[in-house]
Amino acid sequence: MIDLRSDTVTKPDERMRRAMYEAEVGDDVYGEDPTVNRLEERAAELLGKEAALFVTSGTQGNQIAGLVHCRPGQEVILESQAHIFLYEGGAMSALAGLQLKPIDGVRGAMDPTLVEAAIRGTDIHEPETGLICIENTHNKAGGAVLPVEHMKAIYEVAQRHGIPVHLDGARLFNAQAATGITVAEFARYTDTVQFCLSKGLGAPVGSIIAGSAEFIAKARKWRKRLGGGLRQVGVLAAPALLALEENPSRLVVDHEHAKLLADGISDLSTLQVINQVDTNILLVKLTNSDHTTEALLNHLRESKIVAGGFGPGIIRFVTHNGITKKDIQHVLHVLGQFF
Ligand SMILES: *Cc1c(COP(=O)(O)O)cnc(C)c1O
Repeated sequence: MIDLRSDTVTKPDERMRRAMYEAEVGDDVYGEDPTVNRLEERAAELLGKEAALFVTSGTQGNQIAGLVHCRPGQEVILESQAHIFLYEGGAMSALAGLQLKPIDGVRGAMDPTLVEAAIRGTDIHEPETGLICIENTHNKAGGAVLPVEHMKAIYEVAQRHGIPVHLDGARLFNAQAATGITVAEFARYTDTVQFCLSKGLGAPVGSIIAGSAEFIAKARKWRKRLGGGLRQVGVLAAPALLALEENPSRLVVDHEHAKLLADGISDLSTLQVINQVDTNILLVKLTNSDHTTEALLNHLRESKIVAGGFGPGIIRFVTHNGITKKDIQHVLHVLGQFF
């Protein structure tokens, strides 16, 4: 099976499983799991933040950011194709009592002038703006990297108005791999940041949320309230630590494979890559409207290849550490046989 649906499908390798077996553990709710503590310290250091917290998922990390930064009735400005807006079950309203203010972006980036114009004033009719969220790399925009200069421009707007900025950096390490700019440099223009250990980095479970020590103390309480205070969770922090130490540089290979796939598809008249492939995500459209994406997905499945539907007429391919160059060549061969 060649599974290109997502970079979340990777399974822990033998070294990770051994690290899980050998992990030194304690009760993390008491702050006594040494492996979790090492993971959090290392993550904070890499991001250039005071402190970090191991959370169950990217969604939990993003939601904790909303819960800590905002009060119910406030508004969150975010890009209209953001994961938080599209794919988190309305959690910011369901859990934090927040309303969302989506702004259309270009390749996932909101115009700082539009962001500033969307910030609410002091009129008693209006909600207050409690938070601005950025997503980098941007999933729905096909893994697009938002430039550091863009993040700085948004941060300057936010600072002028005293509003915190949260970075949904589920794939922030892909931005580092694509540009050579460190995750700390990207995170510099945000108050808090979430990244996933369980996507391209290849850990089985978990995300990190980072920010000031004061923020993390409050985040710890919210994580407990949400039922995310786990106990001997060093068994999950151990493979995550390995992923964090060893896998960031490996993402370059995923990007090469995505480019290889994009180049191959550009030679096919039946398909068109519709995103600029910055990282490990390809969005592909059928050029002939007589054929459906379902037909293509079925054709791939017959050859034991799976990809995902990603909105009307669009298929998403995501490369990751379970995919080899040979796999990509095989996928191109099978795609070439369509029609
Ligand atoms: C995957 C993803 C998340 C959520 O992570 P989960 O661990 O699946 O909850 C958040 N934001 C973006 C951009 C993502 O791609």
